[in-house]
Amino acid sequence: MQSKLHNNIEFLKGVGPKRAEILQQELNIFTWSDLIHHFPFRYVDKSKFYSIAEINEGTQYIQIKGKLTAVHLIGANRKKRLHGTFKDETGTIDLVWFVKTDWIQKSLKTGVEYVVYGKPKKFGRNYNITHPEIKTAGEIVKQNHSLEPVYNTTEKMKKFNLDSKGIFKLQMTVLDQLNHTELIEIIPLAVLDAYKLVSRNKAYHEIHFPSNEENLSKAIFRIKFEELLMIQLRLLRSKINRNIQNKGYVFEKIDKKFEEFYQNCLPFELTGAQKRVLKEIRKDTLSGKQMNRLLQGDVGSGKTIVSLMTMLMAIDNNFQACIMAPTEILAQQHMAGITELVKATGIRCAILTGSVKGKVRKQLLLALVEGEIDILIGTHALIEDKVIFKNLGMVVIDEQHRFGVAQRAKLWKKNVQAPHNLVMTATPIPRTLAMTLYGDLDISIIDELPPGRKPIQTSHRRENSRLQVFGFIGKEIAKGRQVYMVYPLIEESETLDYNHLMDGYESVKRHFPDLQVSIVHGKMKPADKEYEMQRFVQAKTQIMVATTVIEVGVNVPNASMMVIESAERFGLSQLHQLRGRVGRGAEQSYCILMTGLKLSNESKARMQIMVETNDGFRIAEEDLRLRGPGDIEGTQQSGIADLRLASLSKDNKILTLAREVATKILNNDPFLDKQENGFLKQHLIAQHQQKGWGKIA
Ligand code: ADP
Ligand code: MG
Repeated sequence: MQSKLHNNIEFLKGVGPKRAEILQQELNIFTWSDLIHHFPFRYVDKSKFYSIAEINEGTQYIQIKGKLTAVHLIGANRKKRLHGTFKDETGTIDLVWFVKTDWIQKSLKTGVEYVVYGKPKKFGRNYNITHPEIKTAGEIVKQNHSLEPVYNTTEKMKKFNLDSKGIFKLQMTVLDQLNHTELIEIIPLAVLDAYKLVSRNKAYHEIHFPSNEENLSKAIFRIKFEELLMIQLRLLRSKINRNIQNKGYVFEKIDKKFEEFYQNCLPFELTGAQKRVLKEIRKDTLSGKQMNRLLQGDVGSGKTIVSLMTMLMAIDNNFQACIMAPTEILAQQHMAGITELVKATGIRCAILTGSVKGKVRKQLLLALVEGEIDILIGTHALIEDKVIFKNLGMVVIDEQHRFGVAQRAKLWKKNVQAPHNLVMTATPIPRTLAMTLYGDLDISIIDELPPGRKPIQTSHRRENSRLQVFGFIGKEIAKGRQVYMVYPLIEESETLDYNHLMDGYESVKRHFPDLQVSIVHGKMKPADKEYEMQRFVQAKTQIMVATTVIEVGVNVPNASMMVIESAERFGLSQLHQLRGRVGRGAEQSYCILMTGLKLSNESKARMQIMVETNDGFRIAEEDLRLRGPGDIEGTQQSGIADLRLASLSKDNKILTLAREVATKILNNDPFLDKQENGFLKQHLIAQHQQKGWGKIA
């Protein structure tokens, strides 16, 4: 039986072909189901009135009752706006319109009692409301809903009477025809009972026509929970499937290279966290299942050594290993670092990047397929088809967020059976997001820095302290240290940024005529970049002026200071990544965030967080809270983009609950074959087909 939910929107009473087209174009509403998922984005509480005197900077959307004492147009043409002076017994507020000014002016009368609804903003000493909703008090009396839903619409929709009111009417029409049979319960009854969830049917009705606050919040909770539960079930299911499909090589022995390295070559004692992670990996490689593990660890937490020892496990069992880094510079650093660490063990390392060409490349590829290379280090050049291993058993991917899922999967095809995978990231991902983004990976966390590190001291300075900052730089360099100066470079204003960087470079040279200054930016040829980097690494230059190309992984322990220019233009996580380039040696390190004199409140808050904490996880949480998850890569394919109500930054608790419930359900019934999970399974399958998710699972 075809559910009414799949009905074409055109055939809903009151829609028809023209409006159907508009709904499709503007809101992607094709079916009845799409319509009921177009949730109100807020509710107007029509039972509450505020007085103007109560308004303060924190005031959100409010409703006030009063009279217009004056209405006039100001300015002309494009700058024209309509101004209304609105008064109640307690004060005055301005109402402002920028569009349809003539028309609105005509419809407004002074001396009549109006009800105004909107969000006041502070403007100079006064408050105003732009584009308020305004109705005569008489119109308001006729309404009987105290919580009135407000829907998103567009200008185009409004022309076809599809404003918020219009959509509200359609929702009434459609929900009138939907009941318990259409909106059938999919969550198992035991779960509904245990968590006191309202039924699906009730939730959809209440969210569009709330009977009161309490029922509304129960409806919202239920719908959010369902959204998150579906994502979790999908992720955990795909993990179960992969475990069945992808058998894993068993690394029985760690008696040769691993032991030898551990006893003789390890330059320091491993931290507790590093040991714990290695145990987790060890367990995976003995399990007979393919390992898919995400290793999270703040910058400088020592992920490299963990990945090296993981590769040794493979080598001890006659497998090869590879490590893929996002940039050539990073690959080279890994090459240098790893070769140095294993030099006494006889392990053979090689590097493959885009710049390895001709005969050298040919020989390398031959040695690889012959099994004469144990560890291959490189960039995404590793995934090319011509790169053939004799027996690849372990793939390590550094700075995972730069590589897509598809690229990772290509490496899996390089052996008969998929190799084990360790993906590493220094971008701390808040637990809630990790649970969803990487819910199908196992997660290990290095939450402990190697001993002896002094926390970086961060301060925020404005342009007018430039001279003091230069003075500070001079002092550090006099102590024999090196300094980074980082400039933003974003694509939209590339030339502008470039000039900014060059000006900075010139002023540094002018200020420190006796010092050597390196410069590295994205427009340079790779070879030139490399040359400049090397000069800095070898301490031939004291100051490195650079754009964010130095962001990931570069290791110069003698660099003890970083100045980040226009710091307000960077995201929090990026600032944290950058800052991680210093504080790698035994010296006290400093980070100075330079900003302009004027800063938005949000920017101020962000600088404050950076000054307050070195904890990458806390910074990531704040970043998520301030920016939302949309910008974080991978969100698209994870299904997060399909979340309509639930928010990963705000609905932490519901997400954790959904995860728990999903785990419980699948532990008890991994294939959802039991009768109690029947509707749930059907719903998952339907969602899957609808979204074409099969391709990525
Ligand atoms: P990241 O996790 O950012 O990749 P690295 O692996 O580059 O960090 O390690 C940062 C620095 O810390 C390196 O110089 C490394 O040799 C050093 N290191 C790693 N583990 C330890 C440890 N247990 N004790 C002391 N130093 C360590
Ligand atoms: Mg690293």
